[in-house]
Amino acid sequence: MRKILAAGNWKMNNTPSQAEAMINELKAKVKDAKNDVLIFTPFVCLPAAVKAAEGSNIKIGAQNMHFEDKGAFTGEISAQMLKEIGVEYVLIGHSERREYFAETDDTVNAKVIQALKNGLTPMVCCGETLKQREDTITFDFIRSQIKIAFRSLSKEDALKVVVAYEPIWAIGTGKVATSEQADEVCRDIRECLAGIYDEETAANIRILYGGSVNKDCAAELFAMNDIDGGLVGGASLKVEDFSIICNA
Ligand code: PEP
Repeated sequence: MRKILAAGNWKMNNTPSQAEAMINELKAKVKDAKNDVLIFTPFVCLPAAVKAAEGSNIKIGAQNMHFEDKGAFTGEISAQMLKEIGVEYVLIGHSERREYFAETDDTVNAKVIQALKNGLTPMVCCGETLKQREDTITFDFIRSQIKIAFRSLSKEDALKVVVAYEPIWAIGTGKVATSEQADEVCRDIRECLAGIYDEETAANIRILYGGSVNKDCAAELFAMNDIDGGLVGGASLKVEDFSIICNA
């Protein structure tokens, strides 16, 4: 049985002191939440966020990491660094990283492998542009992203990965995919995973939807068969709204 996961992506917002205050406020509001709760904070907020979330049901994740163990990669952060400060999740291949920081399917795959090797749970993002949707290549495009992201992963490792389907045209635009549109792509991702592994493995991998999820649409999205929660940007910056999503 897959449990719903409400994951907030703060992007480049909040300082460490703001992170501490927000997590403390959120903690009280989600202590009995129906769903699993996770926040991806900026790197510098991670220590404060991990400390504030201690002993609560809120998990903390990073928004990126490098695929090498260590070395001459100025400005980068390794999986081991994240692990040592108590981070449990890492977001990989968000469309903003792909678009502005030249992430490719191959770097996504290398990062997934590195995260798993270091005991971090990777959340892999995939999603089509509006042009790809209009050209009716959404399924082909996403299947190719998924196949490369999971390349050379064992079944046991694949089960530890979370997928976030995020149509690029819905991110930060206020334009939410309909529940049916989101569910049909999540279902296709599951079928793709069943093709790589088997039905049982695919049935146990969490697949989230992201793209302008808000307090009003979350419940309907999360009730769909193949949607196992949401990756939430803008609405995760409002504690009250995000706490509603954590209970949706
Ligand atoms: C995101 O950050 O991945 C996201 C989906 O943002 P928003 O909810 O603001 O569209």
